[in-house]
Amino acid sequence: MPLQLFNTLTRTVEHFTPLDPLGRQVGMYCCGPTVHDFAHIGNFRTFVFTDLLRRYLEFRGFLVKHVMNITDVEDKIIKRVQQRKTTLREFTGKYEAEFLADFDALNCRRPHVLPRATEHMPEIITLIEKLVARGIAYQAADGSVYFSIDKYRGCGCQYGQLVNLNFDAMRVGDRVANDEYEKEAVADFALWKKRVPEDGEVFWPSPWGEGRPGWHIECSAMSTKHLGDSFDLHLGGEDLMFPHHEDEIAQSEGALAYPPGRKFVHHWMHGSHLLVEGKKMSKSLGNYFTLRDLLAKGATGREIRYLLLTAHYRAQFNFTLDGLAGARASLARLDECVGKLTELAGDTSVPPEQPLLLQFTKAMDDDLNVSAAWAAVFDWVTEVNRKLAAGALPRPQAAAALEAWKRVDEVFGLGMVQKDEAPVEVLMLVEERQAARKAKDFKRSDVVRDQLKALGWAVEDTPKGPRVKRV
Ligand code: AMP
Ligand code: ZN
Repeated sequence: MPLQLFNTLTRTVEHFTPLDPLGRQVGMYCCGPTVHDFAHIGNFRTFVFTDLLRRYLEFRGFLVKHVMNITDVEDKIIKRVQQRKTTLREFTGKYEAEFLADFDALNCRRPHVLPRATEHMPEIITLIEKLVARGIAYQAADGSVYFSIDKYRGCGCQYGQLVNLNFDAMRVGDRVANDEYEKEAVADFALWKKRVPEDGEVFWPSPWGEGRPGWHIECSAMSTKHLGDSFDLHLGGEDLMFPHHEDEIAQSEGALAYPPGRKFVHHWMHGSHLLVEGKKMSKSLGNYFTLRDLLAKGATGREIRYLLLTAHYRAQFNFTLDGLAGARASLARLDECVGKLTELAGDTSVPPEQPLLLQFTKAMDDDLNVSAAWAAVFDWVTEVNRKLAAGALPRPQAAAALEAWKRVDEVFGLGMVQKDEAPVEVLMLVEERQAARKAKDFKRSDVVRDQLKALGWAVEDTPKGPRVKRV
């Protein structure tokens, strides 16, 4: 079965076929973070989903070029730069670095290109010039340049491809200067915003005077610069469908005049939001956790990644701390099984066993059905454990099973069991316990065992010596 993915544009699950005539190269753009604060794990639900798709495409043999922009100039950023009396670069640089550290802690593969909006002014200006030349953009009396919805529609283009818009019921013809607005007013939106005193030193020269770009045009300029005028996949969270992505389509298709059959983006995918007690996790509601909040509570990036990977990207997912504890328990079960297979397999090198891989692929081909994929993995764990307990897993079979898991984990990205994962104080206690046991001081060794337990670690004695695992 070929890979099938939901396309927001057609609202159906479609066979995924890249534009590349050889069917191998895939261009993928994901709207990146607005670097005005620490990202919360709702944001990271979207980035982990993007990473899952990229990894799965690679697993399926595609050559993916992954581009994720850094939005380092927009309304919220400018406000904060002014409040904190700092420079744009200093302010955004800090949050960009923090974002990437969190991104790495969640083991997301780094995009091949991480373009910053502020480094794409020539491309942004050229795109606006094309829109002005085609009569689709105009400079208003306030000095800013706006996208004309009427003129765009007059060219036979469709505004409202990702969302259904009822133009009769809406106030068409209004103008919005803000980057974020509601769809009740389909409005001409700003492409280039004239410099105002509140912008401070954040401005660039342009044919329309000093100013700065709107948020939407940044993504049209960066995506087409790095992936070409027409590319395969564009991703983001569901809130970006309107107006951000709708405006990206309008700007690109308005400026670049595509031949029939070609589009700006052929396949759009949107991740559902992460909820907290039924509400969207967001900064404005104050119900959010950053990655570092959770790390401080003792969670690991790996546990958070696993938890985010257990829900289908289009399903709502409620985040709870209990859910994190459940993730820890599931990972422990998986780790124990993989750890035993690793010991048994030694250095044996064999091809992967097929049943797990086939089931995994079948599930993931079905619009990244992670629930079915995880069910296959945990059925496999049960079966491996049964064979291990019965002593019915010869070394080559153990190695083949391990190899299959390694292939699956190329996609899930949870990493193999790391034996040295335990912190130094834990390893020192293990040694102390060993020494006590050697000296037959069992009272002492029990005390140390309890200390380990209090730190969240259990110690198991194996023929090869003690092994610690998280409890
Ligand atoms: P921002 O930094 O606000 O531009 O958002 C970065 C990404 O996070 C975008 O793709 C958003 O759609 C996404 N996002 C924002 N809030 C959530 C949430 N609660 N759950 C999932 N994704 C989100
Ligand atoms: Zn974007």
